[in-house]
Amino acid sequence: MRIAFGGIAIEASNFSPVPSTLNDFIVLTDQALFDSGRYPFLSELEAEFLPTLFASALPGGAVTANAYQTLKTDLLARLTAWGPVDGVYLDLHGAMYVAGMADAEADLAAAVRAVVGPNALIAASMDLHGNITPAYTGQIDLLTAYRTAPHRDTVETRHKACRMLVDAWTNGVRPQIACVPIPVLLSGESTRTDMQPGQRLWAALDQIDQLPGVLDASLFVGFAWVDEARAHAAAVVTGTDPEVIHQAAAQLAQTYWDARTEFHFGTPVGSIDECITWALAAPETTVFISDSGDNTTAGAVGDLPLCLARVLIHAPPSAVVAGITDAAAVAICEAAGIGATVELSLGGKLDRIHGQPLPVRGQVLGLFDSDREKGHQAVVQVETVKVIITERRTAFTRVSDFTQVGVDPMAHKIVVVKLGYLFPDLLRVAPLAYMALSPGAADQALERLPYQHIQRPMYPLDKTMVWKPEMLKLDAD
Ligand SMILES: [Zn+2]
Repeated sequence: MRIAFGGIAIEASNFSPVPSTLNDFIVLTDQALFDSGRYPFLSELEAEFLPTLFASALPGGAVTANAYQTLKTDLLARLTAWGPVDGVYLDLHGAMYVAGMADAEADLAAAVRAVVGPNALIAASMDLHGNITPAYTGQIDLLTAYRTAPHRDTVETRHKACRMLVDAWTNGVRPQIACVPIPVLLSGESTRTDMQPGQRLWAALDQIDQLPGVLDASLFVGFAWVDEARAHAAAVVTGTDPEVIHQAAAQLAQTYWDARTEFHFGTPVGSIDECITWALAAPETTVFISDSGDNTTAGAVGDLPLCLARVLIHAPPSAVVAGITDAAAVAICEAAGIGATVELSLGGKLDRIHGQPLPVRGQVLGLFDSDREKGHQAVVQVETVKVIITERRTAFTRVSDFTQVGVDPMAHKIVVVKLGYLFPDLLRVAPLAYMALSPGAADQALERLPYQHIQRPMYPLDKTMVWKPEMLKLDAD
């Protein structure tokens, strides 16, 4: 079996004023796809895998039409160059908002289908934060998504998609996908799978998998920080028995709907000042605070200095703010050198909707230029606060993100990160965590967002709405 593989993966928010351009994508082709560590299972499968292109970027603003067309054209050219294939494995996120397009994943899947023809099998692995439509699933044959958030099963999910693809081809039975949209739009932070009701909802997918005629059940939260009609949850079941998969998807959708009022933020939430006050009063020696409105892993800009301003006012014994994107400030620190005192007009230059630059005076503690994703970085001591300033938009998700710039997060009373929920590596070390409901492009208070294009009624914006799942036809045409 010859399987071509690749994809374009990004979570893109049109509430961010900073577009995602070609420069923001890391593009892997040829042998680099095998060497990437994303697909360590390929050699175990009875198939020949043919690399095309995999492009991924930090969540950001709308992908420019030029960036998308360039990546798509390259992927399709590489796919075409392989000649006839039996299958395609697409490695996608599912929430790629492209400027001027309504459903980029459906467009990409349709283009891939046009190249490989109706007989080839197409499988996809997705992030459960993708926005999934029947128009998209109608173009492909097999789909599976992460079952954990924070995500811990990324490699397993890719492996499952490829395994299902090989098995389906070997068995010669063409699978189908049933997709039932659910009019519920919640943030990833309120739908974690390591707490209820998410824990039981996603755990139940294993049982649906066991039904005769079912290959995979996936439950999508969707992506809330984008104003498009497909932004909502979805129940998606892949299998070989059309009746069973439709019934299972509808039941799964009903289960999610029935649990809608149970979802809650797993972490205590408050205003920026409340979180700082609670942290200072806590006996724990280190408390993490998520600056959730400016969460770069949800597409926000990451240059807002609002939390830094409030932390400075509270004068903690020690704190780290990681990080603030400001290329100009990094350049000033580099020109001044380690040990120099600098005056910075920090952050607030990119996201002018939600903030403005903060004047600070501090001492340059360290300068770093070896990180490909973060670009150049500067660590500046401002009063009792270490501020990590990055050239590029980034996220501090792992302890090593701190230690590689000489900062031990656990040696500080307060650690501010531009995340929503803490990623697994930080969750592991954080003695205590709060989530600040700060303003920004990834505002957790969804009712504050200027939605115009999402479907209504939509829970929780329309709290009293009633709904029943309906079956949907699979044909994309
Ligand atoms: Zn996700």
